Amino acid sequence: MNDLAIVWFRRDFRLADNPALDHACERHAQVLPVYIHDVEAEGDWAPGAASRWWLHHALIDLDLRLRERGSRLLIRAGAARELLTRLVAETGAAAVYWNRLYEPSLVARDRQIKQQLRDADVHAQSFRAAALFEPWELLKDDQQPYRVFTPFWKRMQRDWRAVSHCPEPRQLPPAPKGPASASVQDLGLLPDHDWPDTLAGHWTVGERAAKQRLGGFVECVADYDERRNRPDLNGTSRLSPDLHFGHLSPMQVVEALSPAGELPDGKGALAYVRELAWREFSMAMLFHEPRLSDEPLQPRFQAFPWRAADEYADDLARWQRGRTGVPLVDAGMRELWATGWMHNRVRMVVASWLTKNLLIPWQEGARWFWDTLVDADLANNTQGWQWTAGCGADAAPYFRVFNPELQAGKFDPEARYIQRWCPELAGLDHKALAKMDAHARRHCGYPSLQADLKRSRQRALDAFAEIRA
Ligand code: FAD
Repeated sequence: MNDLAIVWFRRDFRLADNPALDHACERHAQVLPVYIHDVEAEGDWAPGAASRWWLHHALIDLDLRLRERGSRLLIRAGAARELLTRLVAETGAAAVYWNRLYEPSLVARDRQIKQQLRDADVHAQSFRAAALFEPWELLKDDQQPYRVFTPFWKRMQRDWRAVSHCPEPRQLPPAPKGPASASVQDLGLLPDHDWPDTLAGHWTVGERAAKQRLGGFVECVADYDERRNRPDLNGTSRLSPDLHFGHLSPMQVVEALSPAGELPDGKGALAYVRELAWREFSMAMLFHEPRLSDEPLQPRFQAFPWRAADEYADDLARWQRGRTGVPLVDAGMRELWATGWMHNRVRMVVASWLTKNLLIPWQEGARWFWDTLVDADLANNTQGWQWTAGCGADAAPYFRVFNPELQAGKFDPEARYIQRWCPELAGLDHKALAKMDAHARRHCGYPSLQADLKRSRQRALDAFAEIRA
């Protein structure tokens, strides 16, 4: 038997804690690491512009890391179903290994591929590497998936098992010389405008950079629960793109917080693991309810009286550009455009402004985030938008419309975050910001207010009353 295994890299761009790679290295004399750019398989949710930028650099980094250990990354573009079969034929590989992803369209594809390989007598095996628990592991007593976070989190704590991770291979078995690879550039992932330069100023992409971010965060995790809601402080980990692209596994993150891989008992670290649990919850929700990326979880929201697209087009464009006239919203939207990332508290505020004060469907916001976030993640993004719009799992009650002025006063008390991203408002505290009239706005070159806070809030409540059960 040919002792060659293919390791199919997808969104697990790391050498450490990579069970598919580890398994192949343990058992095979030759290992061929492969990435297949299969956009069609992701259906309507192929990676957006910021994700493609990240992916470009992630592939370069992975190839480099593999080469440092005597291997290389083979890249192909097209349908994984066909290309894997072809590669197996080309190389005579006896096995194909990969780590599981849980987006519904990918689950369906991967199932087919596994069957197809097994039918051809090729050993096909997948592993858990992207989550602490499989989405089908934590179920309610009636075997149904959780739809509310708190009991899900309780269950996760109850069923916690110490996590561990597999080591990074020192040396990799050689890759066969034959099969030709496309280059990362051939994939055409970078946009042709200068946005990438902006992103590059804020992020270093790759496994080592992710480990450094993790190391830096671990030192201040003790304060996480106190600082995590403050966009003006550097209080969160910013590991979301690393977790999404798999430069780090959640197991590695937990181990860094709690050496034995137990549930940490420090307040900050436990609060952090609770956020990882939100990630697991979102993943499980989308796995069990594939329609959620496009449809509200609560069916009554299908009848919600959103404004019509031609009526809201201008308002949507102002929101996207950070020109709503609401300082915290504009700061967030400009941070997103400049860095490909936005603080969680501000994500909630800008999402609430769009869906409630402007009555623009959450799907529009989710699409914009999808294109501009470097951490765009179908499960987390869907959950975040549905939660804020009030139509999802565990949703904030619809009548709880975020007041962006109160949120700013509470979570950005000195308006530092606002001033960083809206420099035309420099020197203005919250009192001065709240008092700005049309003249003052014109004077400092800041946009007029897009919607009156009170009236738009009332309009949202009236709209909600129309669909109340
Ligand atoms: P930390 O506070 O350091 O949290 C650690 C990790 O836990 C994060 O990296 C992330 O993986 C996970 N996490 C934290 N909060 C959440 C949450 N509420 N739901 C699910 N997982 C969470 N997160 C994404 O990763 N991708 C998205 O596309 C995304 N879209 C969002 C859209 C909206 C409207 C909202 C309200 C939230 C969204 N989130 C998304 C969740 C959250 O805002 C980000 O995960 C977080 O801001 C990332 O920053 P961090 O890594 O510093 O977070």
